[in-house]
Amino acid sequence: MSYLNRANGYAPTGNVNSEPDLVQRPRFTNKVEVSLIDWMGRDGDIVNAARVSTKGAASLGMNEGARGLISYLMRNRHGTPFEHGAMKFLVTAPLFVWREHHRHRIGFSYNEESGRYKQLDPVFYVPEFARTQEGKPGHYKMTDSPGDLTALMEHELEYIATYAYESYDKMLKAGIAREVARMCLPVNIVSSCYVTCNPRSLMHFLGLRNAGEAQHEIRAVAQQYEAHFARLYPETHKAFIEGGRVAP
Ligand SMILES: Cc1cc2nc3c(=O)[nH]c(=O)nc-3n(C[C@H](O)[C@H](O)[C@H](O)COP(=O)(O)OP(=O)(O)OC[C@H]3O[C@@H](n4cnc5c(N)ncnc54)[C@H](O)[C@@H]3O)c2cc1C
Repeated sequence: MSYLNRANGYAPTGNVNSEPDLVQRPRFTNKVEVSLIDWMGRDGDIVNAARVSTKGAASLGMNEGARGLISYLMRNRHGTPFEHGAMKFLVTAPLFVWREHHRHRIGFSYNEESGRYKQLDPVFYVPEFARTQEGKPGHYKMTDSPGDLTALMEHELEYIATYAYESYDKMLKAGIAREVARMCLPVNIVSSCYVTCNPRSLMHFLGLRNAGEAQHEIRAVAQQYEAHFARLYPETHKAFIEGGRVAP
């Protein structure tokens, strides 16, 4: 199909030797951003949820015994009390991060901006440094490579994003539907999503994604989540660390 189209003169029309004619110039970022929008619950709510089974409706909150109880629940993987909390984040990250993030199905709610209902903004993620990779799947060693490889990576990613966005813009202006025009955009285009989770589901995410094998960019999201989590639920976070970063 594509050969036929090219033979008929429908090859991509971006002129690689001239500046593209864009209303919105592409912007490039090397950051993923996480904002805490709202939250519910504290360590004491987790303790109360666990104690209701023996104390009924009595509200007890945090005390020395409560710290021990959180640690006990974590060690014994008595997980449901850790579901009595919520954190709502607004996250801006490239599509290839969302593809990994959305694999986390349990205890996560997502609402993402739509490439069908709005024109996507021309913002593209370009890492600060190119990486080289050695080793085999599951045991890769990634090394930042400033210098020539980074210059090459920046040139290629910025070049393709610029011309892809020009094609996107051209198709939209010609009246092609957004859901079709977006097919030419690369996976480093940035997208925003509301993400709501509970302490238990977040710990599962952190155990996998704030870890050595996770890709740098989703790990950057996880690190920012973890900083919020540690501040909002300090005893739970402490027990999570002491328990070897395994979600209960
Ligand atoms: C380093 C790394 C590399 C990866 N590489 C790949 C890859 O190459 N290819 C690929 O496809 N994915 C890959 N993944 C994604 C991975 O397979 C998971 O989809 C992702 O980590 C989400 O984990 P989860 O299913 O435990 O999370 P969730 O979907 O949030 O589930 C949480 C927990 O609920 C339970 N659960 C959920 N659904 C079911 C079910 N249907 N049946 C039984 N129990 C269930 C499980 O206990 C699960 O751990 C990778 C992940 C990581 C961290």
